[in-house]
Amino acid sequence: MPRLYPLEKTRNIGIIAHIDAGKTTTTERILYYTGISYKIGEVHEGTTVTDWMPQERERGITITSAAITCFWTPTYAKKPETKEERMSGEYKINIIDTPGHVDFTAEVERSLRVLDGAVVVFDGVQGVEAQSETVWYQADKYKVPRICFINKIDRMGADFEFCLKSIKDRLTKDAVLITLPIGQEENFSGVIDLIFMREVYFEKEKGEEVVFKEIDPSRKEEADYWRHVLVESLAERDEEFMEKYFSGEIKTEDLLKTIRKLTLNYKLVPVYVGSSLKNKGVQLLLDGIVDFLPSPLDLPSPKGIDPLTNQEIERKADDNESFSALIFKIAIDPYVGTLSYVRVYSGILQSGMTVLNTSTGETLRVGRIARMHANHREEVSELFAGDIGAIVGVKTLKTGDTLCDPKNPIVYEKIEFAEPVIWMKIEPKTKIDQEKMGMAIKSLADEDPTFRLMQNPETGDTLIGGMGELHLEIKVDRLKREFNVEVNVGRPQVAYLETVTKEATAEGKYIRQSGGRGQYGHVWLKVEPLERGQGFEFVNAIKGGIIPDNFIPSVEKGVKEALDKGVMAGYPIRDIRVILFNGSYHEVDSSDIAFKIAGSIALQEAVKQANPILLEPIMKLEVVIPAEFLGDVTGDLSSRRARIEETFDRGMSKVIRCKVPLAEMFGYVTVLRSLTQGRGTAVMEFSHYDPLPINLSQLIIQSKVNEK
Ligand code: GDP
Repeated sequence: MPRLYPLEKTRNIGIIAHIDAGKTTTTERILYYTGISYKIGEVHEGTTVTDWMPQERERGITITSAAITCFWTPTYAKKPETKEERMSGEYKINIIDTPGHVDFTAEVERSLRVLDGAVVVFDGVQGVEAQSETVWYQADKYKVPRICFINKIDRMGADFEFCLKSIKDRLTKDAVLITLPIGQEENFSGVIDLIFMREVYFEKEKGEEVVFKEIDPSRKEEADYWRHVLVESLAERDEEFMEKYFSGEIKTEDLLKTIRKLTLNYKLVPVYVGSSLKNKGVQLLLDGIVDFLPSPLDLPSPKGIDPLTNQEIERKADDNESFSALIFKIAIDPYVGTLSYVRVYSGILQSGMTVLNTSTGETLRVGRIARMHANHREEVSELFAGDIGAIVGVKTLKTGDTLCDPKNPIVYEKIEFAEPVIWMKIEPKTKIDQEKMGMAIKSLADEDPTFRLMQNPETGDTLIGGMGELHLEIKVDRLKREFNVEVNVGRPQVAYLETVTKEATAEGKYIRQSGGRGQYGHVWLKVEPLERGQGFEFVNAIKGGIIPDNFIPSVEKGVKEALDKGVMAGYPIRDIRVILFNGSYHEVDSSDIAFKIAGSIALQEAVKQANPILLEPIMKLEVVIPAEFLGDVTGDLSSRRARIEETFDRGMSKVIRCKVPLAEMFGYVTVLRSLTQGRGTAVMEFSHYDPLPINLSQLIIQSKVNEK
């Protein structure tokens, strides 16, 4: 079947926000207005269509991304009368649902990777909040053009000017209003469209009917002012527009065209206002999505690596190119099993096709393909370039895998995920649970690469690891609900690391030459500190074949194994460069195993001499509390070794930003609740590793000794 929607009318977008800003409600309204969602469901009633999993409904937050396809004709376009007219005017929007909680930023990053544009939702009372900032900078990293939606204009305390200012101060000076609220708080009744210069009201019960009116004389001055700000912002940034501006002949098309061009070039961020809950302003936001966010054709061609030559290559977003795609999400559907969400970058993915998974080297046959709508799954026979859908029932795919035409391989840059900062012992409650637990954890880990499973080789305990306490709690919750596995978990343990603080060299010898064939491995290693977060680097500086090339990988292997178990308290050693610079070999007795052991011995010895220290994970924390609790909360934070970076006002609340060691933060949510009569909130995310103070290091080392 030929494609029904041209690529330039396709939008792959994400909706991102700080928790509670209204992402779910806004998504739900979008689905309602695009005609796919038949019934408006409120979040607190648990009927929203993007929230799939039971505990998401209970907690009222969206944890996993799903991709949903919907269709939109701009409100200013002529109302279609026939099916043909509708199809020719319509845009296809794929909404990639990004998770809203900071503990899941890996999922946000993964979604940002595959979407072309984003809508950032703000709370009209709060303005820019901690996660808005985090996500904003992630979107910068992936060069995602975006538009903003200041939501909750109907709420008491809402203030669009404050919000706009906080966006301009904290995120981007390029933010510019496209719509203006008519009234605020309980008087919020509609918006002024600054492009078409008219008032827009949302009538009928769910605001589904859009009514345009002339600007009321009482509001004309304010509208003119903001229109002027908009036009000036465009003239400052675009020469062609500036010329038109001076010759005084600006048309609506010029505005639309220039705003689009500047938004796609990251020079402008259009801002809309509204209230999703009160069904106001969302349709114009949808217009903004199709008018100003990119189609796959507007972005640079995606770049990957040719696995055969290791050269960088690119693929055009074109159906006629050879097929390539990226898996960005694995989800388990109770009815059809594994769904592997896929973004097709080039060519066409057809059911029945054989494709290469370049990330694993396996070829596989793609059976069924589906496109997900708000409340149903549509089986399709193909997905075209630039499109998003899901492969049904293939169990071997993982997040981040590249699929492509076996004759024309490409691998897209792997998404890099952080290592866990927290581990927890997990034990099945019964023998039946034991049988199911391994498989269940494995499928959760396939979905989420920051969630890990590990066996402690000494104790035999099974450990799960992740990016924070809540992250692991949610996984344990899912084990019970979705997989029927009951488990007991231990206290969370911090994932400390070890590192070196100066250079040192050491020798490693593994020589056994009594009787029969002997063993001979002999190396000299030098270790040096690397910058924080750099991990591990191995340098082969052997000259003149004093150790033959074929033994070098064995030395590296021995080094790597030794790095996994540090010399102070058995934590992994990181941020270290290891240089192999000397050694010797024996014609007959040298072997891979002897060099591996020699490498391990030398590494351990060198690290011991390089003033090793322990590192601990430090979290970025933002606490929002009513002002009267400021003293108590900062006092408590100081006792947790927090470094307070700033304290400021946001509306009626106080915001505290600090860096604090993860080890001090277990159960903090409960403490904060009792310190603030339940009114404080906190969000936390991993920041970096820092040296652990000496006295605490000694305690950790001692407790490790006692464990044994
Ligand atoms: P999310 O966490 O960003 O997905 O936010 P939700 O959509 O779940 O909304 C959080 C809370 O804010 C819910 O109780 C919503 O009913 C409420 N809410 C969402 N949008 C609006 C709005 O426009 N006005 C008001 N007053 N409340 C809203």
